[in-house]
Parts: sequence; structure tokens; C-alpha cells
Amino acid sequence: MSGLSPILKQATPVLAERGEGVYLYAEDGRRYLDFTAGIGVTSTGHCHPRVVAAVQEQAAKLIHGQYTTVMHRPLLTLSERLGTVLPEGLDSLFFVNSGSEAVEAALRLARQATARPNVIVFHGSFHGRTIGAASMTTSATKFSAGFAPLMGGVVVSPFPTAYRYGWSEQEATRFALRELDYVLQTLTTPGEAAAFFVEPVLGEGGYVPANTEFMRGLRERADRHGILLVLDEVQTGFGRTGRFWGHDHFGVRPDVVITAKGLASGFPLSAIAAPAELMAKAWPGSQGGTYGGNAVACAAALATLEVVQSENLVANSAEMGARLREGLAKVAADTPAIGDVRGLGLMLASEFVDQDGNPDAAAAARVQQAASAAGLLLLTCGAAGNVVRMIPPLIVTAEQIDEGLALWREAV
Ligand code: PLP
Repeated sequence: MSGLSPILKQATPVLAERGEGVYLYAEDGRRYLDFTAGIGVTSTGHCHPRVVAAVQEQAAKLIHGQYTTVMHRPLLTLSERLGTVLPEGLDSLFFVNSGSEAVEAALRLARQATARPNVIVFHGSFHGRTIGAASMTTSATKFSAGFAPLMGGVVVSPFPTAYRYGWSEQEATRFALRELDYVLQTLTTPGEAAAFFVEPVLGEGGYVPANTEFMRGLRERADRHGILLVLDEVQTGFGRTGRFWGHDHFGVRPDVVITAKGLASGFPLSAIAAPAELMAKAWPGSQGGTYGGNAVACAAALATLEVVQSENLVANSAEMGARLREGLAKVAADTPAIGDVRGLGLMLASEFVDQDGNPDAAAAARVQQAASAAGLLLLTCGAAGNVVRMIPPLIVTAEQIDEGLALWREAV
């Protein structure tokens, strides 16, 4: 393929021609079970007929009506409908195009609203590749090495990564919260801390779920010190974890939610949601973007939400996630090289380790490649790249989970 940048390193050799449901079809005619879903994006499956119809209809009416110039119905209707699934009080939305852009929007808002300079992120975080978001990303050095200086004002505190610490969840959580208090006494004063940015499940950082004690600890400190709790639900939102939002598992109230990936079935759309009085603290002109809230992307998101609700995809994510997890645990029980199986809903992963329990990225890569050769598309993640993740479309059936598990066992 001449003319493409060599930095476009492809995880699989597939040249995709079309997609249908959980399957991708390559130009050479091969069929693949897609447990990558475009990195957790195509939750309604590839080319869901209702999404396709909504997009075709909207494209014939109005493709682009830039929202600071003219408003359009798809954006208004989508905002209204999202209001029914967002946490109470988060009644104001602002749309952009990608996860990174939405993180930047939340970062700008947090600093503007609090007039404080610092943000606290958690070790293993991934918030994106723009300079601000990359500066808040600690899951691997490849995301920020080589283009310093990064944005200042980022303070890193531990995440309860129990398996890597070799501790129980409770020990890891107590450590993370104690360390956070120490961070608030040393690396930043609470009066300088605008926001906590946290993923309900570390995504690129290795599919490590947070837990109720940790998230409530953040909420309590946020309330005590006037720090905003910003939940990066780019990967965990829209049913991916078996609840509508990842944070629904923990019963915490966010101040800001960031959503993208599963929102529009593959169309570039992302948003931040916050209380109107908080959002009003961003002054006009400081937030925006030419393509944000594109009319066709909004129509795709509306159809996506309808499909998620009418086809009970959140419940399916929980049910199929439990089935997949059980199967993965069985394979792990027969495979010493798989040290841990974890995740929530249909956001699951197996961590590959060597005999000493150290990350084994080569093993993960071999299995990922064997899987794609066998017809199952998978991705790796984690700081060392030793975690193989499964994020199938949320429409996946029990038969397709079993088909994926059979291919997984063969690849392992
Ligand atoms: N935040 C999280 C939690 C993510 O997982 C990602 C992407 O994987 C991003 C932000 C960045 O999103 P994008 O790649 O759309 O810029």
C-alpha cells in the first residue's frame, strides 16, 4: 500500500471491505468475528440497518449546519434524548468529534470554572493524543514521549491496580486513596486542583476496573475540596460495561461526563455533559469546533440510542459479558501464561505474564496474531502491551460468544 504513512502500524492484516453485525468481511473474501468493534465504537454492530437508514435520510436533508452559526434538529433532539440517560443534574451538553477533543473541552471547562490550574489523573490513564489529553495520559510512554514540553499542571496519583501491585483490591484501594491524600498535601494544594479525571475502567491502561470504595473516595475528596469529578466515559459509556455508564457500577455522582466511542456507531461524535450552571462558566468562543455536532453524526447517535434501548443492549452486554468472562476464566485456568482475567460487561481482558509474573507482551502479540489468522479480531492494551482485550459489539449473541471463545482457545 504505497502512499500511507509508516506510522500507521496495523494490528491485523485485514483489508476490510464491508461489515455486518459482529462480522467484518475482507476484500479477499475472508470473514472475521470482530471483537475489536473499531476500538469499542460499533456497539450496535457494523452497519446496523436503523443507523444506516437514519444516516442516509439525514445526509439527503442536511449534512452540515455548524452549530455556532445555525442550529439543527438532529442536535436538539439528540440533546433531549441524551438527557434521559445522563446522570441527574447533567443537563447541558457540548459536542465535538473525538474522545481527545472532548477531554480537551472538559479540561478547558474545569480550569475556567474553578480558576484552578491543576488536574489530577490516575496512573494507567489514557485520555487521548492531543497535547493536553496526552499530557494527562500515563498508560504508556509512547503516548507522550518525544514531543515535550507537555502541558503543565498535571498531577498523577495511583489507581487501584490490584493485580500489578500483587495486592488485594482492598489493599490497592486503601493505598491509592492514602496516596491521593498525600498528593493533595504535597504535589498540589487542593486549592490549586481543578478536577480529577478518571476512567471507570482503565482502558488503554489494561482494562482495570475502578471500584466503589475508590470512586466514592474520589467523590468525597472532590466535595471536601471543591474539586470537579470528571469521568472519562469515552470507552466505558453507552452500555459497554453492562450498565449504561461505567460509573453506574459504583453509585457515584459525576460533575462532568465525557462520552464518545459507542455514542454514534462509528460516526465521529463526542460530548461533554455537565450541569448548566457549570457549563455557563465556559465563555463563548472558548469552546467550539467547525465539525462538532455534525448533523449526520447526530442522526447516527439518535439511531444508536434507539437501538441500544429497543434491543436491550445494556442488559445484553451484562449477560454476554458474564458468558464471555466465564469462558475466558476457563481458558486462563488451563493456561499459566494468563495471569489475570478482568473487566466489566463486554469490556474484558486477559493479561499475559511470564514464569515470574512479569508482563509478557510477546506472548500477547503472538496470541493476538494467531487469533486474527484463525478469524477472530482482537487488540492488545496495557502499559507493556501484554493484555489482550475483547470488546465485541453489544449485539453479540451467545452463539457468537461461543464461536469467539473456541477461536480464542485455539489461538492461546
Ligand atoms: N479517553 C479514553 C478513556 C479512551 O479510551 C480514548 C480512546 O481510546 C480517548 C479518551 C481518546 O479518544 P479518541 O481516540 O477518539 O481521541
